[in-house]
Amino acid sequence: MKKSNDSVIYNHFPALFDRMIDQEVDHHEKSKVNNIIQNHGNRIGSQSLISICLLSEHDRSDCNFIIDAHSIQNNGILNKLSEKGKVIYLNRERFDYTNVNKYLVGRNEATVFRGFCKNHDEIFNPIEHKQYEFDNLQQNYLFAYRAFAKEYTNHQQDAEFFKRYIEELINNSTLESILEKHGGDKIPGKDSREMRKKVVLKRHEIRKKQIETLNKDLEDLKQVMTINLLKEKYGKLESFTLSIPVQNTIASSSLLYIYADLNGRPFNQKLKYPSFLSIFPQNDSTIVLFSYLKKHRSYFSELISQIHNASDYQKELIFSNILMKYGDNIVFSPNKFQRFDNKALEILSTALDSRTQMPGEKLVYYPLNLFRPNSYKPII
Ligand SMILES: [Zn+2]
Repeated sequence: MKKSNDSVIYNHFPALFDRMIDQEVDHHEKSKVNNIIQNHGNRIGSQSLISICLLSEHDRSDCNFIIDAHSIQNNGILNKLSEKGKVIYLNRERFDYTNVNKYLVGRNEATVFRGFCKNHDEIFNPIEHKQYEFDNLQQNYLFAYRAFAKEYTNHQQDAEFFKRYIEELINNSTLESILEKHGGDKIPGKDSREMRKKVVLKRHEIRKKQIETLNKDLEDLKQVMTINLLKEKYGKLESFTLSIPVQNTIASSSLLYIYADLNGRPFNQKLKYPSFLSIFPQNDSTIVLFSYLKKHRSYFSELISQIHNASDYQKELIFSNILMKYGDNIVFSPNKFQRFDNKALEILSTALDSRTQMPGEKLVYYPLNLFRPNSYKPII
């Protein structure tokens, strides 16, 4: 294929491809592709794809059986947010604000991942069984490591899902049938189908490259994070902490690749510098713990100083926007969540869907404060 065609496809492909897949889902409810999509959407189903202990590579002799680890502490935090054992759980899937009940899940199910054996999960005891203390480097590190571990495991699952999904799509007649359906009532001609097939295969290639790049980054990060953990070099991480005077509303544990700062200035163009965000209730407050590797300090320093200089309310908006654009794994108390009005939920849905910043877009773009569902103000 000519280069010019490649760039056209690269730019227009995701929408075209996704539309084809949507149509496939609409038309063939029992198709193999749809089954795979459903299995991926089914939390337990997708989790069963991957079951590993992140520490086995360094410390295999101590590994026993893999357990359902919680990326947010189950007894201490999730039970504070839950009502009748349920929480609102949002992850990277599209948020349908017209059907909020869909996101009501048992607290034992929310935030679970299979990334540690029972034995190694005990490394988290200092944040599982003790109150968080500001400036406790070990606790800061463990929160960050757990956010990383969940993302690492998720990525392994996504890569596996993608592999199976695309194999199904390409290796049987499903793709042909999608291409035939794509023209609506009129079956597209052979040339047109061939062109579309090339589009799908190109998309496959692009996604594969993206996954491989992220794979490598996460493997490198795993080495660094795990070695520091085992050698107790907790000072390799720097943290910004904030205590917000709101009670039992929200929790999260996310690995982030933030693109630009409060003024829209990119400081992480290639998305190579990770940060870690943990949000959890403690006593009558909510703690925000934001960390990054000390060796990346020069990239984060401007953002951190902008956050320092912001007003209290603005700080809440900053972390709300960071969470909506870059975060994952967000838990709300159902009671607090229902205080968001329809307009707020609509903004939440748009923001969760944006998943990054446009060039020049300021970090605080959406006027929605996730920490205070009852005090939603239409504009900053
Ligand atoms: Zn283990």
